Amino acid sequence: MSALALREFHTFEAAGHRFLYLVPSAAVFAVDSCSEAVLDALAEGPQAEGELARRLSPRFTEDEIVEALADLQRARAVGPAGPAAPAPKVIPLTHIPLQTLVVNVTNQCNLACTYCYEYGEDKIVDTENGKQPKFMSAETARESVDFMLREAGGNPTAHMTFFGGETLLNFPVLKATVAYARERAAAVGKDVDFSLTTNATLLRPEVIDFLATERIGVTISIDGPEELQNKFRVFHNGTGSYDVVAPKIKALLARHTTRPIGARVTLTRQTLDIRRIFQHLTEEMGFWEVGFAPVTTAPGRDYAIAGNGFDDLLAQFRALAQDFLEASLQNRHHGFSNVRETLQEIHQGHAKAYPCGAGIGLMGVATDGEVALCHRFAGSADHTIGSVRDGVDRGAQQAFLASHHIDEKTDCRTCWARPICAGGCYHEANTRHGATTAPNLHYCEWIRGWTHTCLEIYGALAAQNPGFLRQFDDAPQAAGHESTGTLARTEAIV
Ligand code: SF4
Ligand code: SF4
Repeated sequence: MSALALREFHTFEAAGHRFLYLVPSAAVFAVDSCSEAVLDALAEGPQAEGELARRLSPRFTEDEIVEALADLQRARAVGPAGPAAPAPKVIPLTHIPLQTLVVNVTNQCNLACTYCYEYGEDKIVDTENGKQPKFMSAETARESVDFMLREAGGNPTAHMTFFGGETLLNFPVLKATVAYARERAAAVGKDVDFSLTTNATLLRPEVIDFLATERIGVTISIDGPEELQNKFRVFHNGTGSYDVVAPKIKALLARHTTRPIGARVTLTRQTLDIRRIFQHLTEEMGFWEVGFAPVTTAPGRDYAIAGNGFDDLLAQFRALAQDFLEASLQNRHHGFSNVRETLQEIHQGHAKAYPCGAGIGLMGVATDGEVALCHRFAGSADHTIGSVRDGVDRGAQQAFLASHHIDEKTDCRTCWARPICAGGCYHEANTRHGATTAPNLHYCEWIRGWTHTCLEIYGALAAQNPGFLRQFDDAPQAAGHESTGTLARTEAIV
């Protein structure tokens, strides 16, 4: 009989149990004491089944050993010694329905946040002198709705996210588009779910009324208490925005109770104080949840998180994740959305070939109606894959899928965190490494450290409060997300 050997997995412990994260299948496997003994024995090298049984027989019955070996082979944690057959590279050949369309209703902003990827030093789209209009017209917005409903295929619900620049600078078009989309969707038997991201400066009472009445999901870009918010989130004259946004956010939170409102924080080297930011935004301001994203920058910027900064970030995330675990074990809400979203991904167990839905289930529309990979590329001629008038260029989309598949990223092919990371955000790769095809190797340690932490939390919940995880059974998969080091992600698109 041929010898058996260990296959690819990542081990972690939680609540006194040992678990395996089975990398090719992205499944989590709880290990009993006999399976643990098998794994420990095989860690010394390949062994024949009979030899293994002999070694373990003083401690376990023959039935236990046979069952453990069968389970481990079924889970593909153990297999015949020798190189495993490579998994086939699967590229979707059929048209994947669009899940989320992000509509950039303007590329203008009334703030001048230093780190902004759209206006700052790392911008890839010329929003001042380029060919795109500064504001999307009502007609292009209607065409975007028609495009979305066409591309949604059989999906009963289409998701439209309004984005900018500062989204609310084009409130009249946004408002008219919601009405048009509801009417067109009803005519074709679909629903539309709306959301938007805003810097909160333009949340006037009538805007808040509209958002609440129309049940529009809102994410606020805010960096924390006054001195942190005012470091980078400033008006064009350099004045901090905290005093303007704080009362408006409170008014929104008081009135808009039809959907939970989330905050999305950009972390920089100078504002890396996660617990304090979290506490301010949840306890003092009243946000339901907070997602954190390390700033996307080219290396060397003053505000970039680099080197030890990622260790610090990981230590702070871990501390807050422990609070999340404690609350979740008692079925209390905790608003650290980065953990929740990663738990959802672990629970759903998809080994991703692509880091996000960009160019597949998620697309971004520029103010002129050109369709790009996602909102961050909207308006960039190099990343356009169609237009709302002429539809998606299927050839360009297929070429994108072929060149961005995880198998094309040599370093990622052997990384245990690849089912969740898959190389990371294309926009960040483009900013950091000059190409959307590049893996984000500058943050691998952070990604692996954070994935490990989330696996531990998942294991602890699976062992001690499995009911908590049931909320993820039917949760929709995210079609895309903002770059937050990919897996420390927040679904808020900012
Ligand atoms: S970018 Fe790094 S962490 Fe992510 S899959 Fe690739 S090697 Fe792994
Ligand atoms: S992860 Fe990056 S490329 Fe993907 S949707 Fe988010 S911003 Fe776009």
